[in-house]
Amino acid sequence: MEQAFGNFVNGEWVDAESGDTFEVVNPADTTDVVARFQRSTAADAEDAIEAAIAAQHEWANRPGPERGAILNRASQELASRKEEATEMLVREEGKARSEAAGEVQRAIDIFAYYAQKSLDLGGVVKSPSGRNKELSTKREPLGTVSIITPWNYPIAIPAWKLAPALAAGNTVVAKPASEAPNSTRILVECLAEAGLPDGVVNFVTGPGSELGAPLTTHSEIDAVSFTGSTSVGTSVAQAASEGLKRVQCEMGGKNPTVVMPSADIVEAVEILGVGAFGTTGQSCTAASRAIVHEDVYDEFVDAMVEYAEDIVVGPGLDDPDVGPHVSQGELDSTLEYIDIGVDEGATLETGGERLADGEYDDGYYVRPAVFSDVDNDMRIAQEEIFGPVLSVIEASDFEDALELANDVEFGLSASIVTQDLTEANEFLDRIEAGVAKVNEKTTGLELHVPFGGYKQSSTNTYREQGDAGLDFFTATKTIYRNY
Ligand code: NAD
Repeated sequence: MEQAFGNFVNGEWVDAESGDTFEVVNPADTTDVVARFQRSTAADAEDAIEAAIAAQHEWANRPGPERGAILNRASQELASRKEEATEMLVREEGKARSEAAGEVQRAIDIFAYYAQKSLDLGGVVKSPSGRNKELSTKREPLGTVSIITPWNYPIAIPAWKLAPALAAGNTVVAKPASEAPNSTRILVECLAEAGLPDGVVNFVTGPGSELGAPLTTHSEIDAVSFTGSTSVGTSVAQAASEGLKRVQCEMGGKNPTVVMPSADIVEAVEILGVGAFGTTGQSCTAASRAIVHEDVYDEFVDAMVEYAEDIVVGPGLDDPDVGPHVSQGELDSTLEYIDIGVDEGATLETGGERLADGEYDDGYYVRPAVFSDVDNDMRIAQEEIFGPVLSVIEASDFEDALELANDVEFGLSASIVTQDLTEANEFLDRIEAGVAKVNEKTTGLELHVPFGGYKQSSTNTYREQGDAGLDFFTATKTIYRNY
């Protein structure tokens, strides 16, 4: 029988009060049960919150460099377990091995980055308006925070929330997605091994519908940082705001890449191919709409189809171009959108069929799909699909392309492929997206720059990563000293 992992509460691995567990299965081979985790209830979440509250004062009062030293050791601990963490990430989430290795490395780097930041948490000194006065600011931790994360970057996202929260002196209750909780479990083990005091990080697994309420409404939770779908994020934001908690929700995307006539089409296809089909299209920043100028539209569609047909789909452990979907639900959702696109009158140029024979037998595989003749008001052009499906939309000129790119309720990431400097700059100025790029794929962002979306992609309260990560997890106190 596969191992059952506990919740981590006040420094101990414990079973849920219900005594129930749930299975995590390998999406490349559903006969492979990866592990079991606790099916926690609200009572377990409350225990975890109480532990975090009890540990808060002592942790906040530790000198920043001491907190940083622990984060550094956690980074090193994860580095020493990189191979194991990578393999576990592939087995539970399905992405290709090299993508998973990059993600684990990102988590290692994030802990090292915020370890350094915890040495520099200061404030500013301002000119006072009188003599014998001092006027300054100071950053303080918020207190106890909840972190709720999705399955698609199951180690990087928890890392980029946990590390700044801890660096700033907060204590945390972390709830991972049930599809891929092992990656967060490994992070928590690394932190414990690094000497994090009991109660500073707590980890509870189980259904969001059950754990969401205590994590977002408990009177002593000071802030909630959520990443996931727009529908769940909206309810999380509403619940947390009701109690006047600080809240940050990073949510879905429907990201465009515009291709202009001056573009090198081979380069444009590569940018869109990696952007749309990498991580099986299961990235919030995945390119989902190629908005292509009419002069190069046919050439682009032909080359994109050729690219998609060359893609190797397979189990993530073999390091293919594209792995399986994470779950039956995600697979069904993508297949449903393929039907919707066909019914709406778009042309399915290639792909979109479930792969189910031979090595694909027990996995959630779909062949990457390219739709052409897509109108921007079709559902496949407006709704997040979260699978390897690219919609190609024709634009008559730059203004039309920009309008189409912005005509969507999301605004996470966007790019343009062009050699025209004016077009590039116009695009950067006028695109409604939190991340805007020229001659680059929509996916991927370095850890030291702010990340977040416009419109329905984000609550737009704060950004994540870089200094922005610390902004969310700290409050500024303004201090007058008269003497
Ligand atoms: P999801 O919204 O279904 O779940 C996210 C987390 O919320 C999970 O831990 C889940 O258990 C929990 N949850 C579910 N119901 C809840 C409730 N009522 N209260 C509190 N928590 C609850 O999302 P998912 O399927 O895990 O992830 C995919 C989504 O995440 C996509 O929409 C994707 O675009 C988005 N995403 C966004 C970003 C970003 O930075 N903008 C990054 C990665 C993923």
